[in-house]
Amino acid sequence: MSSLPAKLSTWALNVSPSPTLAVDAKAKALQAAGEDVCGFAAGEPDFDTPQHIKDACAAALMSGKTKYAPTPGIEPLRAAIAGRYLAEYGLKVAPSQVIVSPGGKFSCYLGVLATCSPGDEVIVPAPFWVSYPEMVKLAGAVPKLVLADDRTGFKLTPAQLEGAITPRTRLLILNSPSNPTGAVYSREELVALVDVAVRHNLYILSDEMYEHLVYDGARPTCIATLSKEAEARTIVVAGFSKTYAMTGWRIGTTVAPAPIAKAISELQSQMSSNVTTFAQYGALAALTEKEKTAAALAQMLSAFDRRRKALHAALNGIPGISCLLAQGAFYLFPNISKFGLPDQTFCAQLLEKEKVAAVPGSAFGAEGYLRLSYATSDAIIEKGVTRLARFCQSL
Ligand SMILES: *Cc1c(COP(=O)(O)O)cnc(C)c1O
Repeated sequence: MSSLPAKLSTWALNVSPSPTLAVDAKAKALQAAGEDVCGFAAGEPDFDTPQHIKDACAAALMSGKTKYAPTPGIEPLRAAIAGRYLAEYGLKVAPSQVIVSPGGKFSCYLGVLATCSPGDEVIVPAPFWVSYPEMVKLAGAVPKLVLADDRTGFKLTPAQLEGAITPRTRLLILNSPSNPTGAVYSREELVALVDVAVRHNLYILSDEMYEHLVYDGARPTCIATLSKEAEARTIVVAGFSKTYAMTGWRIGTTVAPAPIAKAISELQSQMSSNVTTFAQYGALAALTEKEKTAAALAQMLSAFDRRRKALHAALNGIPGISCLLAQGAFYLFPNISKFGLPDQTFCAQLLEKEKVAAVPGSAFGAEGYLRLSYATSDAIIEKGVTRLARFCQSL
């Protein structure tokens, strides 16, 4: 094979591949080779998409919804998304402020691209969702990581935020409920952070992908609803992947002030165009066939909640492990620092010796933890925790 004409680009050389997808792929490969693996690495619901959503998509496909659609989304879907923000949060947005993108991940990236120029700094609280620092770098901007560990419930404090701001800071990324920790900020906590962001005139990217997956009566907060100043600077990203078990559909949503929404739509028009046209009709059914959707969501939520409590109790029963009871998403983030092993070594040995797949906290910018997803069966949780306990005892 002949060599490349030149070295690969800065973008290609500097990007880190997703460590969560890598651990999950390794676990799946072991499984395919006949090993009995307990997988806690997956970042997606283990349920199938509700039937009525699939039916609506299939009907749209069969009726010929197979052409290009408007870049920011089909009109009825944008209107339904605007309607849901009004119904759920009392937030009035015009359909023109709603952009439908190929996955919430791409929605986040476009939000960064629309607000950040090369050299701008972006504050990313750690533990962070793995893609944020990489997207910031791909925009030529600089991620400023600020660690918020279990002593503050994995939540950034206003003082920490204040301390990380420089004249170059342009954007703050928040993610509540959080992947990887499951932490849910209270309304008051967000008001205090937004106050700092307003004083320093920052944009806010609020990733609310897990807004509907909350437990113990916790309430999600849509940051754009906190004040007029909040609304004027916040890009709200959400989607269908996690709430409705639609990860493979690739549909994300953005709600933003009109000039930002326009910029995002224009960027998208050159980078990907519209989300798969017939898939958007499935998403529309998720929002319009409300009773069926609510029933499906309630069923998934009750399973997640049962597993959350079981996993939390079992983890805290293992000597050396301490784990907060997170109120959102489908992850727990136990502290394993007492064992004195780097978390990557811990995870590698756990997979090798006990065939349990977990993602090391360092992948999320927080050494000394594991991310365990409970989007898996009750039986796997029970078996996996028994193996984890045996592994910990052997250390
Ligand atoms: C899963 C996830 C997303 C992106 O979801 P898509 O599958 O791209 O729609 C965005 N943010 C967080 C925190 C996530 O966990």
